[in-house]
Amino acid sequence: MLENFAALTPGAFYRYAIRPDGDHYFVELGDRIEQFVGVDKSELLKDANLLFNRLPSEHQQELFQRVVDSAQQQAEFHYVFSVERPDGKTVWLEARSTPELKANGDVLWTGFVYDVTARERATEKLNSHLSNVNHVLNNMHDAIITTDAHGKVLYLNQSAEELLGFQLSELKGENIKQVMPQHHKRRHDNYMASYRETRQAQIIGSTRSVEVVSKSQEYIPVELRICEYVENGALRFMGTLRDLRPTIASKEALDSLRSTDPLTGLKNRSALLSHITYCLNAPTSKTSGHYCLLSLDVDDFRFINEGFGVNRGDDVLVEIGQRLQRVAADAICIARIQEDEFGILINGVQNRAQVEAYYERLKDALQEPIDLGKAASSIRLSAGACLLVSSDMTSMDVLHHCEVALGTSKQRSRGGLSFYEASLGDSYRSSALIDQKLKSPYLLSELFLEFQPQMQADGIALGYEALLRWRSDGDLIRPDEFIPIAERNGAIVIIGEWLIEQACQFLLWHQRTFPARETRLSINISPVQFQQANFVQIIAEAVKRTGIDARFLHLELTERLLIESTDHIVEKMSALSALGITFSLDDFGTGYSSLGYLSRLPLAELKIDKSFVRNLEPTSSNYRIVEAIILLSQSLGLNVIAEGVETEAELALLKRLGCVYYQGYYFGRPVAREQLTAPQMG
Ligand code: C2E
Ligand code: CA
Ligand code: CA
Repeated sequence: MLENFAALTPGAFYRYAIRPDGDHYFVELGDRIEQFVGVDKSELLKDANLLFNRLPSEHQQELFQRVVDSAQQQAEFHYVFSVERPDGKTVWLEARSTPELKANGDVLWTGFVYDVTARERATEKLNSHLSNVNHVLNNMHDAIITTDAHGKVLYLNQSAEELLGFQLSELKGENIKQVMPQHHKRRHDNYMASYRETRQAQIIGSTRSVEVVSKSQEYIPVELRICEYVENGALRFMGTLRDLRPTIASKEALDSLRSTDPLTGLKNRSALLSHITYCLNAPTSKTSGHYCLLSLDVDDFRFINEGFGVNRGDDVLVEIGQRLQRVAADAICIARIQEDEFGILINGVQNRAQVEAYYERLKDALQEPIDLGKAASSIRLSAGACLLVSSDMTSMDVLHHCEVALGTSKQRSRGGLSFYEASLGDSYRSSALIDQKLKSPYLLSELFLEFQPQMQADGIALGYEALLRWRSDGDLIRPDEFIPIAERNGAIVIIGEWLIEQACQFLLWHQRTFPARETRLSINISPVQFQQANFVQIIAEAVKRTGIDARFLHLELTERLLIESTDHIVEKMSALSALGITFSLDDFGTGYSSLGYLSRLPLAELKIDKSFVRNLEPTSSNYRIVEAIILLSQSLGLNVIAEGVETEAELALLKRLGCVYYQGYYFGRPVAREQLTAPQMG
């Protein structure tokens, strides 16, 4: 029966036995065996060794071991082995049989043997192929990294291990972001998510120059090509990275990488310098005009970074870069020089007015508020300009001159443009000097206050604003010049404490000198000072020590402060309000305010910035802004005070718009305490 069945299968039937003395023999063999091994069936039945001797010795040993195991355990025998045929060909056979113990003590196996040569050859080929692939991958010059659809690393070849300094075992399962520079990391998740959703690839298939970060934190420029493939139904990415460092042929790519600012995609400082050098050497004529470098610095960028986090700060810089590219598309070069400083090289400049007009254009482009999450901010720029007029200049001179001019803008008129003039160099150097002087132990003895009246609409004095003055070595240094530096080097903290004490002393003095007239005193509080942990305590103690009525102490805060977490600020302001202290929001309209903020803060007053009051005319845009601020303050139940009122005409317009309080040269300049007479009547 079995024999009949055997004819139907591709195998050769066999019965094989071992006697207790170890002698072995074939009891029966199917015809096909001759086909398989090329030896006569009758010969094999006489001597089983005619077959076993044709096995390679290691197969003979193992086969024998399996036979013994199968006999002892009465378990199926199964083995794949090769046989060398008399004609020199090698065949692979697979034997399967079941043992049984006979009464005479023999063990008898009954089963089939199959020719599996084709299968074994294919496997062998595949293995050798795989080992070749591995060999190729590992000896490839290019680094290969594969990831899953979420960026999880699946594989690195040897070159990738060498390039990145990570072993496969260290990166496997980690996110690929681990080897990306900071600014790419942040965008990667979003990018992957949007790619999975939309399949809109920006980078798949194209070759780009990027940087990767090695285990030792080295930034390595590479040429990256990413392709996607599907493995067992799952989306995979394969990145091929070519190290650009040693390749002379990729010099161009390196140059572009070297000259690009990775965050904004604008040119970087060194690219800008090469452009300047080029322009310095290029002939210009009166008619074609000059080249001019403008450097732009974002006002109060530090506050964006500190208040909203570096990521938002980066986003703002990217947005600024994009807007500059749009509005200054005609520029020769737009670069990010450092952190929040940009450089724009333009040509065809005939006079200063043209540069000013150009600057106004840039300023307007940045007026449109940028979303900061909690608030929207329009960006203000300080700018410096330097004309490329002398061929003796180097590119570094031009950049330096421009920064000198920028420094002047920053200190004198925030939000403005200054031109480089030789003399500006001195005043710029003095900022380092101011920084030094602010650290002098005699600083407080060199400070004094001036007081400028604040008036009500009915002409009755409301009080004064205290304005800080500093006389150092006979020079009067203006607060606009030294306060930003004091905020940076921390001197503002002791100056602020001194100011609070002086303000209390002033209120005591005023009460003694003019007992008939109540007056309030406004003092300016720097955000840096407000953020001190003990700020509330310092005021509370000064109020208590001097015994003043805190209702007469009024604090002017700037919108810059509001970038900080509101909860924190509301908490402090509420604690101070509880003492009776009131608040005004200074320079209103120039900064970051959002309505959401305003309604949450315990404010008493908005102070319209003097830039809106200047040249106020019914047809000017300032007029509409002032009108809007006054309406806003009315709807929020706040008082509104206009500063910088210089003329009767301005006053009349402000009155018409419903302004309630005023301050400005029209009513009085800031003066020393001794010069104050009884508060003026209008
Ligand atoms: P601010 O708080 O906006 O002060 C008003 C500035 O406008 C003062 O300049 C004042 O002299 C000037 N001003 C007043 N009326 C007029 C006017 O009718 N026309 C014009 N063009 N200007 C007028 P000042 O004293 O140079 O102060 C400049 C800035 O320095 C202040 O701006 C304030 O931000 C800061 N500051 C002054 N004193 C202090 C202080 O004690 N602490 C802090 N943290 N900052 C201060
Ligand atoms: Ca003020
Ligand atoms: Ca102001």
